[in-house]
Amino acid sequence: MELKRELSAEEKRRLAQERAEELRERIQDYLEASKHIPTGFKLADQYEERKQKILKILNATEEDWYNWKWQLRNRFTSTEQLAKVLDLTDQEIEDIERVGKKYRWAASPYYVSLMDPKDPNCPIRKQAIPCIEELNDTVGEADPMGEEFTSPAPGITRRYPDRLIINVTNLCAMYCRHCQRRRNIGEVDKVTPKADLEAALDYVRQNPEIRDVLLTGGDAFMLSNDQLDWLLGELDKIEHVEIKRLGTRTLVTMPMRVTPELCAVLEKHHPVYVNTHFNHPKEITPEVAKACDRLTKAGVPIGNQAVLLRGINNDPHVMKKLNHELLKVRIRPYYIFHAKPVKGTTHFITRVEEGIQIMEHLRGYTSGLAIPTYLINAPHGYGKTPMLPEYLVSSGPDYVTIRTWEGRVMKYPNGVPNSVKE
Ligand SMILES: *Cc1c(COP(=O)(O)O)cnc(C)c1O
Repeated sequence: MELKRELSAEEKRRLAQERAEELRERIQDYLEASKHIPTGFKLADQYEERKQKILKILNATEEDWYNWKWQLRNRFTSTEQLAKVLDLTDQEIEDIERVGKKYRWAASPYYVSLMDPKDPNCPIRKQAIPCIEELNDTVGEADPMGEEFTSPAPGITRRYPDRLIINVTNLCAMYCRHCQRRRNIGEVDKVTPKADLEAALDYVRQNPEIRDVLLTGGDAFMLSNDQLDWLLGELDKIEHVEIKRLGTRTLVTMPMRVTPELCAVLEKHHPVYVNTHFNHPKEITPEVAKACDRLTKAGVPIGNQAVLLRGINNDPHVMKKLNHELLKVRIRPYYIFHAKPVKGTTHFITRVEEGIQIMEHLRGYTSGLAIPTYLINAPHGYGKTPMLPEYLVSSGPDYVTIRTWEGRVMKYPNGVPNSVKE
């Protein structure tokens, strides 16, 4: 495949046009599939109708809806309430109640408004509403990551040389059916005691190699603005802490949590990063766009950590759409996690090849910005491990053999090309 440099300008233009035609062909399957993938923006009118219906059921106002504390207080937690919004069969009601005795569930009115009342396979429903498979899991473990073995001080998880997690609360706005920390999120609300937070801060103070602190849980945005202000302020005082990150799913399940007051707090403590957890394009709504706008205006970069979930997003087209919708609201896709074998969630696990396939369908086919890293969390807390399609076919002293995104295999000089050896 020599480049014919001697061709005329016109002939070169014609070749480029042929190539453009070929490139257009490459995404026809996605463009066709994309028409049928629901997104929060396409469904905005339906969501609004359901919101009105839910407000009526709860005898509440628009103003209540935009109050996150109202959203929390009015979470759906019973099948009677849920049946007023969703078409549930008797079997489904029975299953939800049986599972609910073992694993709690709760969804904000906002998140319920995203649910398709008629479709039990709705990806929003599957993330929030219990299903009987949770009880039938015989292979999962409570703590496959051995988190208890990587906590050198109260509230801390440390798996890396220069950064660590402080678990600031076990509260969440919603109890995800695929939750990896199910054993902690459990049945009782546990805000990390102030003494534990102090001990965690002390640990950070005493370990000068820690330059990056992640506040998560649970959900960091379940803390009050004052609590966040205090914690971030304490971290600011530690000279070796260069950046702070907050983990929250409220952007997805309760975007009204991102108030101007919260943003004003975050803005005081830069550099602050937020990582969130969208799994499906249906979750990206005009309300989410507003929350992201506030956060980004406060100078907070937002990343997304999706989980690859069977029946929810284990489809290359859906995953690509998700990443496109994220970029539209200025969230940068960061990670796709392979689902872990956590007890009660193993029905969501996919094969690793599916994740690799998804990555294969992203690189080249879409913006580099839309491509997260696909990871397996190694057992024993040995860390996030990237899973990639193979692009390096082989390597020798003078040449490597590469495979391009389209599958073209070619030789490439290994180091400065050596013309003498040619
Ligand atoms: C995921 C994680 C981090 C952050 O990892 P990044 O790859 O830097 O985003 C830090 N500490 C622990 C314990 C983690 O699990």
